[in-house]
Amino acid sequence: MRKVLALTFCCLALPALCLPQASKLAPEVRTFVKEDASAIALTHVRVIDGTGAAPHADQTLVIRDGKIAALGDAASTKIPEGAKTLDLSGRSIIPGLVGMHEHLYYPAPGGPPALYPEHAASFPRLYLAGGVTTIRTAGSIEPYTDLELKRSIDDGKMIGPKIHATGPYLEGPGAFTIDMHQLKDAEDARRTVEFWIAQGVTSFKAYMNITPEELGAATKAAHAHGIKVTGHLCSIGFREAAALGIDDLEHGLVVDTEFLASKKPGLCPNPTEADKALLTLEVASGPIHEMIRDLVAHHVAVTSTLPVFETFVPNRAPLDSRVLDAMLPEARISYLRRRSLISDGAAKSDWTALFKKELEFEREFVRQGGTLLAGLDPTGYGGVIAGFGDQREVELLVEAGFTPLESIHIATSNGAEFLGELDKIGTLAPGKQADLVVIDGDPSANIRDIEKVEIVFKDGVGYDSAKLIESVRGFVGLR
Ligand SMILES: [Zn+2]
Repeated sequence: MRKVLALTFCCLALPALCLPQASKLAPEVRTFVKEDASAIALTHVRVIDGTGAAPHADQTLVIRDGKIAALGDAASTKIPEGAKTLDLSGRSIIPGLVGMHEHLYYPAPGGPPALYPEHAASFPRLYLAGGVTTIRTAGSIEPYTDLELKRSIDDGKMIGPKIHATGPYLEGPGAFTIDMHQLKDAEDARRTVEFWIAQGVTSFKAYMNITPEELGAATKAAHAHGIKVTGHLCSIGFREAAALGIDDLEHGLVVDTEFLASKKPGLCPNPTEADKALLTLEVASGPIHEMIRDLVAHHVAVTSTLPVFETFVPNRAPLDSRVLDAMLPEARISYLRRRSLISDGAAKSDWTALFKKELEFEREFVRQGGTLLAGLDPTGYGGVIAGFGDQREVELLVEAGFTPLESIHIATSNGAEFLGELDKIGTLAPGKQADLVVIDGDPSANIRDIEKVEIVFKDGVGYDSAKLIESVRGFVGLR
C-alpha cells in the first residue's frame, strides 16, 4: 500500500516523471524495449565504472528518469519506493561503449566499382545491441542520411545509438571509390566544411589524397566553429598533420607514410612500400618514437581500429557465427572467399608483422601519455560489423597489452572525453545519463565476456540485445 501511495504522490506532483521512459518512443522502437520503468534498481551487480578503477562487487545502481540517480553498495544504497528491481547477481555493468571509428555503411559484395551502401536499417540496431550507445562516424558516404537517422533516433522514431555525425570525406584527387567527392582546392575544402557544419555535422575526416593546403583550410574552418578534424591520411605524414592542426589520427602507425624515404610531399606513396619502410623501424626508439612524442605534444589523439586490420592478417580473425549470421548470403560468400585468398597468400603477407607492430605502437602511444580512442571501422573487405566489431576492438586492446579495465576505459571514457561529453556519458556515476550495458559474466576477468550483452540501457531505457540482432539477421551487405 505504501508503494502505491508513493507512486500516486509522485504522479500528482510531477506527472511527466512517472510515465515510462519508453512512452515517447514510436511503436516499432518500443518492440525492442525490455525495461522502461521511470525508476529501476539494478541490484547485486558487479560495476565496472569505466574510469579504469577496479570493479566493485555487489552494487546497486538506481536509474531514475533516464539518469543514474544512485550507485553504491547493495547493502547501503536505498532503492526508491516503487522502483522496478532487477537482481543482476553474476552479471556486470559497464558504461555504454563510445565508438569512435564507426560508419553507417558497409562494403557491398562484388564489384568493381567499390561501393559502400548505407546500412541505416541494420547498423544502428547492431551498434546498440552490441553495447555501443554513442558513435562518432569517422567519415560519411551519405551525410544527409546519417543526419536524418540521427534526428529520427533522437526523436524516438528509430532505434540506435546517439550519433555524432561526421561530414562527407575530405578527399583530394585519386579517390578509390566514386562514393567520395574529390576536393578541387583549399577553397573547396573550406566551403565544404562550412556547408556541412550548417547542416548539422559535428566533425570531419580528411582522407588519403587530401593536399596539405586543403587539410590546413579545412582544419582552420572547422576549428573556427569548435569542431574537430580527424584523418585517415596517406598523402600527409602524422607529424605534418599534427603541425597542420589535426585533432585525431585514425588507424595508427600502419597508415603513417612518413617513414618512406622516397615519399613525395603531398602525395600518397605506394602503401606496401610505406609499410615495408616502417617494418624496419623500432617502436620504442628512433623516428616512430619521435612521431609518438610529437603527437602527444600536440594533443593529437589516435583511434585504434584493430578489427579491420585483423581481417588482413592471414588466419587471424575469428569466424564468429554471430557475424556470419548477420550477413546477406552473398556478403558472407564474398567475405569468406577473400579471407581464404588472404590465408593462401600467408607466406608473402606483411600483415602478421604489421599487426604486431600496430599493437606495440598503441601500447607505447598510451605509455607516452597519448589519448587512444577505440573503433571498429566496418570497411576493408567486410566481416567487421557494427556492435560485434566494437566488442572485438576491446578484446584486441587486451591483446595489445592493456588490462581489461584499461581497455574498457579506452572504449568508453576516452571517447566521451574527446567528444566533450564526459560530464554526461563515458563512466558510471550519479548524475550521468543511464547509458550502460548489462553483461552476463565478468569482462574484467575475461574480456571475451564483453560479447555476452543482455540489456543495453540508453537514457534509462533498456533494450533487448538479442531481439535487436535477430530483427536484422541477414541484412548486412544489403541495407
Ligand atoms: Zn573508416
